[in-house]
Amino acid sequence: MRFSKLFIPTLRETPSEAESVSHILMLRAGYVRQLAAGLYIYLPLGLRVIEKINKILREEMNAIGAQEITMPVLHPAEVWQETGRWDAIGDEMFRLKDRTGRDMCLGMTHEEIITWLASKEIRSYRDLPQIWYQIQTKLRDEARPKSGVLRTREFLMKDSYSFDIDEDGLEKSYQFHADAYHKIFSRCGLKFYMVESDPGMMGGATAHEFMAPSPAGEDEVALCDKCGYAANVELALSIPFEIETKNWVFEEIHTPEKRTVQEVSRFLNLKPEYFIKSILVISNNGPVLALVRGDQGLHEKKLSKIIGEHRPAHKDEVKEILGIEAGFIGPMNHKIRVVSDPCLKQGIYVSGTNKPHYHAKGIKPGKDFDAEWHDIHMAKSGDSCPKCNAPLRIEKAIEVGNIFRLGTKYSIPLKANYLDENGREIPIIMGSYGIGPARIAAAAIEQNYDKDGIIWPKSIAPFDVEILPLNMKDKNTVDIVEKLYQDLTEKGIEVLMDDRDERAGIKFKDADLIGIPIHIILGEKNLKEGLVEIKDRRTRETVRVTIQEVSEKVTERI
Ligand code: ATP
Ligand code: MG
Repeated sequence: MRFSKLFIPTLRETPSEAESVSHILMLRAGYVRQLAAGLYIYLPLGLRVIEKINKILREEMNAIGAQEITMPVLHPAEVWQETGRWDAIGDEMFRLKDRTGRDMCLGMTHEEIITWLASKEIRSYRDLPQIWYQIQTKLRDEARPKSGVLRTREFLMKDSYSFDIDEDGLEKSYQFHADAYHKIFSRCGLKFYMVESDPGMMGGATAHEFMAPSPAGEDEVALCDKCGYAANVELALSIPFEIETKNWVFEEIHTPEKRTVQEVSRFLNLKPEYFIKSILVISNNGPVLALVRGDQGLHEKKLSKIIGEHRPAHKDEVKEILGIEAGFIGPMNHKIRVVSDPCLKQGIYVSGTNKPHYHAKGIKPGKDFDAEWHDIHMAKSGDSCPKCNAPLRIEKAIEVGNIFRLGTKYSIPLKANYLDENGREIPIIMGSYGIGPARIAAAAIEQNYDKDGIIWPKSIAPFDVEILPLNMKDKNTVDIVEKLYQDLTEKGIEVLMDDRDERAGIKFKDADLIGIPIHIILGEKNLKEGLVEIKDRRTRETVRVTIQEVSEKVTERI
């Protein structure tokens, strides 16, 4: 393609609304434009990247025997009502009515629709297994659309669904997907981890996420370099480091106006891990006091699994329920349910005494108070791996894909059954598997850029090579570049030729910004000697080769 015929509106300035690197660079390099919050237009270069990723997705899905279909974006409400998700999902779902007043919604995902299809079409065990997939638009009214195409309100998803007769079948389909996902993300040039994850609104038994490490990520993963344990912090287990057990005897200490762990820890010159943090929350079954060590964070999701939905108590509720102001709560003598992290079983602590402006030193868990013991702390760096005890690392990451074992969560309510060999009706066992191509593109940028622009992994770059003839007024240059362009194109290489009559500086700047992995530079002086330069965008290394061998050398690199 000729640059002059392709719409590539590059920007010199950093757009003020952009935060993440991928957002800034995709705008600056002319890949996308924002229509409104979370709604993006893909310009020619942007679309080429997405198409490259989609091609990889199709190849790897087809390779595991998945069959491509396409389902509507507009859904009748009834199907979603049958699984209960019409009510369970809140504002994230776009809802509307058709002209007859019938409730409809825009598809956030397609479990309901595909299960409806399976309920109509799958009859017997002979029809199974099946894997069906699509690359289709999803709409979600995200609470915080941000960071460019990483989190948008309209986005493409490759979603596939597996249908099996039993758990063993599901296990195979799940493994097929895990393997395909490894190939997909590797081929896309991403650094990634497969981590244990919380199934969330998809329901079902267990799930894994594919996480591309990046500071732009909204997720955090706990990783063990020794045994490979990898889990989203949303459910990661960890062993907190042990503290020295002091030989304190119980004493009350006057701590005027010192409320938080931080304040009291500074006042007493004692590290936060020698404190007990007492947090009052309100669950549907009443108040619960949650206890974690002073250096730890309370893990809302882990606590939810034990006490159900809950929220932090307001100041006046604390006073009313515990009879003490927040800041001086201690774990002793409460009539309400107390849930404590098990790491508190070891050691002797400082905490509130349920008396204003006093704390107590020498509190012995199990003796001075009792509790239900459950892991309710957030994993943090410094903790040890729950499997092998080696140090854990916490890293920010972008979720680029996930796989869920759904079981019968959708097949039972939607009556997607099959007849077994004895003619009995059995619910189909399902799995659900998603990948966002735009997230892959953005994550690839977040992991591959420098101060001048994008450095695309070869497999998903919009073009394989960019040719930069530096002087389009020079007849010799034009003759050579046209021949080279034709030559490479005939070999099936995707070439972008900067045929604009622009200064060399501008061409170099734009080429670095756009990020095509290989540049061929045709300068007048080199050409006179029969030479051209091949530049590697990533390393910036250049080699001079003869005009005759350039095509061969470039092909080798691709
Ligand atoms: P997140 O936790 O980031 O909101 P999710 O768990 O809602 O993601 P799924 O519903 O499982 O994501 O969607 C599967 C894949 O679709 C994700 O792994 C991601 O690649 C992509 N995806 C999800 N939401 C968005 C979005 N708002 N914008 C772009 N891609 C998205
Ligand atoms: Mg989401």
